[in-house]
Amino acid sequence: MRAVRYDVLFVDDDTQLLGAMARVFADAPFLGHAYFAATPDEALRALARHPIGVIVADQRMPEMSGIDLLKQVRSAYPDVVRLLATGAVNTDELIEAINHGQVYHFITKPWRNDELRLIVRRALEHYEVTQELRRRSRELSAAYAQLEGAHREQVRLYEMVICDDKTGVKNYHFFDVRLGEEFERARRHDHPLSLLMIDIDDFKLLNDSHGHVVGDIVLREVAQHLADGRRGIDVVARYGGEEFALILPETPLAGASIIAERVRERIAQARFAAMDLALTISIGVATYPRPELETRQDLVEAADQALYRAKRSGKNRLVQYGV
Ligand code: GH3
Ligand code: MG
Ligand code: MG
Repeated sequence: MRAVRYDVLFVDDDTQLLGAMARVFADAPFLGHAYFAATPDEALRALARHPIGVIVADQRMPEMSGIDLLKQVRSAYPDVVRLLATGAVNTDELIEAINHGQVYHFITKPWRNDELRLIVRRALEHYEVTQELRRRSRELSAAYAQLEGAHREQVRLYEMVICDDKTGVKNYHFFDVRLGEEFERARRHDHPLSLLMIDIDDFKLLNDSHGHVVGDIVLREVAQHLADGRRGIDVVARYGGEEFALILPETPLAGASIIAERVRERIAQARFAAMDLALTISIGVATYPRPELETRQDLVEAADQALYRAKRSGKNRLVQYGV
């Protein structure tokens, strides 16, 4: 704790008194340097130049009172411990100085050497503690900022790994892992689990007539429509190309069909790519449990079959598997 020794500054217009103070602290092991100023201006210059932790100011000086000097010191160097040396005591002045926090301690003139040393020593210790606390607080803030940065970076990397960059929804890999987990959960607790396979109708035509750039914009907007209003536990993923998948945990076939119909209608009414572009989607819905659906792949194939039937029977519709 005592690695750094801080300096002490004595301010008094009476240079004889300054000499006396110099003798009191000549061999003091607890301070770095003792500086002496005969005017407030000199004192402020010394403060700007040296690592001063404690200032002892005379109250009666021709240019400025000690309290006024300490006020200035306080606003420029708030940590510096301020001591006032005063002979004639004006109680009102002193009370005000205390109440405004301008003065840490008083030294009465004439002082006793051992008392003066003790007061200055305590003041230096006080300053050291303040500096140590500041240092630790800076270290903590830096460590915290570093942790926060690392966490943000991890979140960013994770998002990159699980998202499809063209559409912003989850990618196929994430979909596959989550569907496996949800399927296991549904099987273990005998809960319903629905899967929607969604394919944009005649997307090739749109690409051919408006180009791939517009096609990409449309894909992203369709994905956004699919994601809007979904529960936290639902998963919206790009299955591939212009095909999307929606995992709906804890959702029976009837509920999944209502959601699918709502999505279908929403897309049919939307306009895309800031143009008057309209499009439709076809949806296949499949729900676990059914005896023939034993794995997540079975569930995907079932939803795919339903989707195929939706396409075959005219598009812009949903078909339920097994109905
Ligand atoms: P259907 O109604 O039977 O689904 O017809 P479709 O034209 O939508 O389906 P098809 O499978 O014949 O064509 C899919 C089109 O989707 C062709 C392909 O270029 C386009 N596509 C797939 N991925 C992307 C993509 O990332 N960006 C763009 N712009 N187009 C894509
Ligand atoms: Mg298509
Ligand atoms: Mg397709």
